[in-house]
Amino acid sequence: MFSRARLAVGLQRRLVLTPGPSSAQAVLVARRLISNSSCTSAQHSHRHQLDELSSAIDERKSHAAHRRPREFDEKGNELNPYRNGPSALDKAVHLFFFTEIIRGMWIVLEQFFRPPYTIMYPFEKGPLSPRFRGEHALRRYPSGEERCIACKLCEAICPAQAITIESEARLDGSRKTTKYDIDMTKCIYCGFCQEACPVDAIVETQNQEFSTETREELLYNKEKLLANGDRAEAEIAANLHSDHVYR
Ligand code: SF4
Ligand code: SF4
Repeated sequence: MFSRARLAVGLQRRLVLTPGPSSAQAVLVARRLISNSSCTSAQHSHRHQLDELSSAIDERKSHAAHRRPREFDEKGNELNPYRNGPSALDKAVHLFFFTEIIRGMWIVLEQFFRPPYTIMYPFEKGPLSPRFRGEHALRRYPSGEERCIACKLCEAICPAQAITIESEARLDGSRKTTKYDIDMTKCIYCGFCQEACPVDAIVETQNQEFSTETREELLYNKEKLLANGDRAEAEIAANLHSDHVYR
């Protein structure tokens, strides 16, 4: 019985590798062998393996059905599926004259004379979008008055809680900030503060070159932010104007 079971397993292994009708015949032989066996547990395990085998054969048949259909001429002769491809002579010519290598070298030569895609940063700089979100700045009106009205919307919306504002009332009843701090080490440059500001007071400039050697230098206060705004006001105004139709 044991030798029959081994024979059945051996047949099953071979069946997976051999397609078509021979596999089906082998399944029948294996099934007959197992049906003659008297051991119930061996029968169960082999039946399970046979089921797996049958499903594998069915899957292979369904794959074969999806293959490109064979084509025949009027006389019933099967047509060569590669008849429209390159001839053996074409292939031999390409092989003999190294045409593929020459084509590859031609592409290399073309690239050699093209202008390079890289730039020599920091001596050359690439274009920046008007929406680029870089270093922060606080803006003033042309009269020199601070735009910020201390509404604290930017502080409330900041997801990194990087902004800290303290305010007081002016003599005319309006409000102004006495403290406007941004912890640039917390900032994630999401731009929410700029979007939330009703008077375009806090903005993100196009300056991206403000790396420092100490952490303290990245704790910006109101004076630093106002100085940034004074320095880049023309650029900030031009960028906001070019983007105003989308806001
Ligand atoms: S850019 Fe985003 S994370 Fe940075 S201060 Fe503004 S709201 Fe906060
Ligand atoms: S910067 Fe803008 S959003 Fe923030 S407190 Fe000032 S006015 Fe309000």
